[in-house]
Amino acid sequence: MTARIIDGKAVAAELRAAVAGRVATLGYRPGLVVVLVGDDPASAVYVRNKDRAAHGAGFESRTIRLPAATSEAELLAVIAGLNDDPQTDGILVQLPLPRHIATAAIIRAIDPAKDVDGFHPENVAALALGAPRLVPCTPRGVMRLLEVSGTPVAGRRAVVLGRSNIVGRPMAALLLSADATVTIAHSRTRDIAAECRRAEILIAAVGRAEMVKAEWIGPGSTVIDVGINRTEAGTLVGDVDYQAAREVAGAITPVPGGVGPMTIACLLENTLDAAIARRSC
Ligand code: NDP
Repeated sequence: MTARIIDGKAVAAELRAAVAGRVATLGYRPGLVVVLVGDDPASAVYVRNKDRAAHGAGFESRTIRLPAATSEAELLAVIAGLNDDPQTDGILVQLPLPRHIATAAIIRAIDPAKDVDGFHPENVAALALGAPRLVPCTPRGVMRLLEVSGTPVAGRRAVVLGRSNIVGRPMAALLLSADATVTIAHSRTRDIAAECRRAEILIAAVGRAEMVKAEWIGPGSTVIDVGINRTEAGTLVGDVDYQAAREVAGAITPVPGGVGPMTIACLLENTLDAAIARRSC
């Protein structure tokens, strides 16, 4: 039996529409500001997509574009201005930043109440303590996909492949908060295939094209593929060998069209949450 396909594109469209519906009742337009430093082409595409989605949902959205030579002090000054601006509910600094800027210092400078990426240490701590506030968009999107696909989480064995600060770690924390039994696997894990095979929920976030083979997948499990990898032929593939995995898994996300669209939809949700929390204070 082939796996059910979890259609992230459709779920994300519904979520964006739901956010737009809630924005329409607010009486104000939540403000999202994306800061882009330099001219990385992939970042430029992401930022354009975020801006388009934000406008589509009725947000006041703008992008501040700064030259690659912007100093750390100049960027900190821009952030300080946005922290003080009452019309700005969400601030997102597009990563990666140019090498001469200390990313951690920039993230720390963002008002945690406006940190819609959920990367500020205060928001990271809140999630780790089991009382999440603004949580990173990609893991939030994955949790939504598990929910809408009817995948039970509480009490289930979940394996997260990857331990980055933006995906793996917050993903594991969210699954733990949802009462899963969580294993985090990474480049130092022994017999990673065996760890994965035990999973009832497998989240792959390693950035290695089609690393997860069909034999790594537990029959009937739910497989969520966060990876986005470009092959030499120029096509996009995930971290999971999708065609083979479909024959074993119970449900699976495609790449593209799985987790990717959820990330932006959850950014809108985070911005809406931030606006409501801030403006009701
Ligand atoms: P990072 O490179 O920051 O982290 C990768 C993680 O995978 C690390 O923890 C690393 O382990 C682990 N890893 C790497 N190689 C192996 C291996 N051979 N075996 C076991 N573990 C391994 O990546 P990100 O977390 O930022 O992103 C992961 C993937 O998700 C990428 O493809 C990225 O493009 C994609 N992504 C997709 C998003 C979306 O919206 N769909 C959003 C963000 C990311 P170690 O820590 O030991 O080095």
